[in-house]
Amino acid sequence: MELARRVASLKPSSTVAVTNRAKQLRRDGVDVLSFAAGEPDFDTPDRIKRAAIAAIEAGQTKYMPTLGDQDTRQAIADKLTSENGIPGLGFENVGISVGGKHSLFLAMHCLLDAPEPGAEADEVLLPVPSWVSYRPIAQLAGGRVVEIETNSADGFRLDPERVRSAITPRSRLLVLNSPSNPCGTMYSEADLRAIAGIVHEMRDVAPRLIVLTDEIYEKIVYGDTPHFSIGSVPEIADRVITLNGLSKAYAMTGWRVGYAAMPGDAGTQFVKAMGKLQGQMTTNIPAFIYPAIRTALAECADDVARMRDAFAERAGIIHGLVSAIPGVTCPRPTGAFYVFPDISAHFGKTTPKGARLDTALAFAEALLDEGLVAGVPGEDFGGCGARCMRLSFACSEEQIRAGIERLGAFIDSLR
Ligand code: PMP
Ligand code: GLU
Repeated sequence: MELARRVASLKPSSTVAVTNRAKQLRRDGVDVLSFAAGEPDFDTPDRIKRAAIAAIEAGQTKYMPTLGDQDTRQAIADKLTSENGIPGLGFENVGISVGGKHSLFLAMHCLLDAPEPGAEADEVLLPVPSWVSYRPIAQLAGGRVVEIETNSADGFRLDPERVRSAITPRSRLLVLNSPSNPCGTMYSEADLRAIAGIVHEMRDVAPRLIVLTDEIYEKIVYGDTPHFSIGSVPEIADRVITLNGLSKAYAMTGWRVGYAAMPGDAGTQFVKAMGKLQGQMTTNIPAFIYPAIRTALAECADDVARMRDAFAERAGIIHGLVSAIPGVTCPRPTGAFYVFPDISAHFGKTTPKGARLDTALAFAEALLDEGLVAGVPGEDFGGCGARCMRLSFACSEEQIRAGIERLGAFIDSLR
């Protein structure tokens, strides 16, 4: 079967692939403990379910405006104004799409141009390690990804000066993700303000540069660093797209709700463009989900806090257990629900079945095959991720204890 080149050359999502593989093994009766999925193990809060069920029963089952009804878009604008301090937002500055991934896809396709023959591509500045989907989606939209390195020794901190050095006249997007998937760490308010200052100072060098900040883990925060939205910094607020969604904070991964927002007139134009593209893709998200979004935003702070407290507890447990394994170093997680340990001290060793572990991919495959633990190998997260493996702790404490014991035994068995 001949496929279009852009799809044939597209890298499949490794997070989705490992998650599906672990689920299939469990269905086949294999006792795998999976730390692969970036998905809360909690059920969606009842209030949210009831809002959707009531909407179905009331007949809200038809097409709706492509980017969402005005009330729901306004509710999101209000949330971003009051909770995140982002100025200049009305309903027309917000678009609702089929998950944060779809919002990201639309945003990148609205802003990046495939280069004209002979011209240079728009540059997407991407601090790495970062979530596996930013790079392929940016490339699919015609962008050229420029990685900005961080390292695990200093907790994957993004040095603002490295952002300065990466900016060129071709810079179009700076992608930020705090709390970070896969690092499990956050950027401080001071660093984000410094980055905003640099973007502002360098506006003559890079006049088309827009900051795209993915804040989907903003509510899953449990260290000393509070979440800070770079879109609230007045000097650059009208050049920031804030991306978010309900998947993580409200345990709504299967509902597929994401949104993007940008202030002012530029934001209105950008959101309109998203609507044009979405109108040729999916039209609106399912109609009966809009009331559920409003319920989640207005009434579910206690559910969010309950889940966050559970993640905080697990973060401490998994970090302690993983860090105690010889040859494994792991920054302390302060947000999201991942640890991203460096396992490269074990590269070059061999497993009892004879597999040689030269890469994170080989390590993760052997760990699944021989140790019955699923984690995502770090290569596709970029940069120093190639020395790491991502473990999601969106699972029970019992599973964390049993799984990390298996990881320790697997490492102990290497020669
Ligand atoms: N951003 C990050 C950093 C993520 O980890 C995810 C999880 N898939 C998303 C965006 C998108 O999530 P969703 O499409 O479920 O909203
Ligand atoms: N974001 C989650 C993860 O990183 C879900 C899978 C995906 O969309 O990548 O595992």
